Amino acid sequence: MTHVLVLGGTTEASALCRALAEAKIPATLSYMGRVERPKPQPIPVRIGGFGGVTGLIQYLHDRHITHLVDATHPFAAQMSTNAVAAATETGVPLLALTRPAWQPGPGDCWQRVPDMAAAVAALAGPAQNIMLAIGRMHLPEFAAQPQHHYLLRLVDAPADTPPLPHHTTVIDRGPFDVNADRALMQTHKIDRVVSKNAGGTGSISKLQAARDLNLPVLMIDRPVLPPRLAVQTADQVLDWITG
Ligand code: NAP
Repeated sequence: MTHVLVLGGTTEASALCRALAEAKIPATLSYMGRVERPKPQPIPVRIGGFGGVTGLIQYLHDRHITHLVDATHPFAAQMSTNAVAAATETGVPLLALTRPAWQPGPGDCWQRVPDMAAAVAALAGPAQNIMLAIGRMHLPEFAAQPQHHYLLRLVDAPADTPPLPHHTTVIDRGPFDVNADRALMQTHKIDRVVSKNAGGTGSISKLQAARDLNLPVLMIDRPVLPPRLAVQTADQVLDWITG
């Protein structure tokens, strides 16, 4: 009997769960549980890490999982790498539900860097007002550039004060709006925006706002993942499961 395990933590994963529930396909959603007040889901949920590749293999086996869908964030490289390894080991078919990376358009002023360390290095120079829209996990790395004033936009208030001498925190959760983002950047006199190339629509408004205001964007490229089958819509995932 079909039992789908969805690795989630994204808007796309939540949309897929709704589609699976509507199609009455038995499925479980797994997420890490870092975000407080997670959205209610229409299918059963499990929370927390599996315990590496070995733990995921055990879970797939114990729960008789027939299909594994990796709908994690494009920057969740460890989980995605573990999913490929566990699928290879067990033979459980794996499909990734991904979103295309953002591409610069006319009027955009992007500086692309390969990873977080390169983003930190690229911020060397005189003090600026930087919008750091990268989540909370990598904030400590930016302490290496303490001269800047950082505007942090986070889903939850951080438990510990970020180790950045000058910063302002805004607590908000997407999807965001271009007019509000433009106003936010103007209010905080932002000189530069730092962004992960997440793709999708939920947080693209900051790039549109930066374009409107002629602000440079430091764009962090996605981590490189092992090869895997990937699609871009929930319908394609359903076709893969039922086809
Ligand atoms: P990561 O570095 O790839 O994963 C670290 C560890 O967290 C994994 O090895 C796994 O632990 C556990 N984990 C991650 N996703 C999981 C899931 N869906 N279910 C169960 N365990 C999971 O991932 P991350 O960057 O910390 O992201 C964690 C979660 O937040 C992901 O689900 C991701 O979709 C979501 N998210 C991430 C970002 C981002 O920018 N990274 C943004 C938005 C949402 P074990 O090894 O113990 O199994």
